[in-house]
Amino acid sequence: MGVLEPLVELARGLGQTFRYMFERPVTVQYPEQKRTVRPRFRGRHVLKRYDNGLEKCIGCSLCAAACPSDAIFVEASENTDEKRFSPGERYASTYEINMLRCIYCGFCEDACPTEAIVMGDNYELSFTDRRQAIYPKDMLLEPVHVHTMLTPQKVDAGVFTRSVPEMKDPRD
Ligand code: SF4
Ligand code: SF4
Repeated sequence: MGVLEPLVELARGLGQTFRYMFERPVTVQYPEQKRTVRPRFRGRHVLKRYDNGLEKCIGCSLCAAACPSDAIFVEASENTDEKRFSPGERYASTYEINMLRCIYCGFCEDACPTEAIVMGDNYELSFTDRRQAIYPKDMLLEPVHVHTMLTPQKVDAGVFTRSVPEMKDPRD
């Protein structure tokens, strides 16, 4: 090894450092700064509502049947017009997803006949306890803008008789 060789290597290293000092940083200062996710990103599930606040979920359990990791638990109960949670006969009185089991495959979303369960863009899932990984319905349900949209609602008799909305175009 020549005398100059370490100095050459040192100069090369410093040159690299100097070059990258003027490049745009690729690191994101999380959590102050959050990255925009890709359009098809599959993050934490959300249980959607209709515009009037009624829940889209009808407690049919098709999502639970489609789930390959048995992460979803659904229990259904009967709606009445005095206490209506969703259109049609039944609603999910219990809806839970075990986030430790979920593999974010999206099969639940595909299986749902009312597009109630949707994988959103929230990737901030952290727990300090296994029990906290089981997300109950009130954590998953979409928030409402006004108090009157909360469920259950008292509605006129015979209005919300269909569990699955009529499609304008059957190819939808
Ligand atoms: S994304 Fe896949 S694994 Fe997760 S709850 Fe839905 S079907 Fe189950
Ligand atoms: S989320 Fe969809 S598939 Fe799952 S129970 Fe509710 S309506 Fe049925």
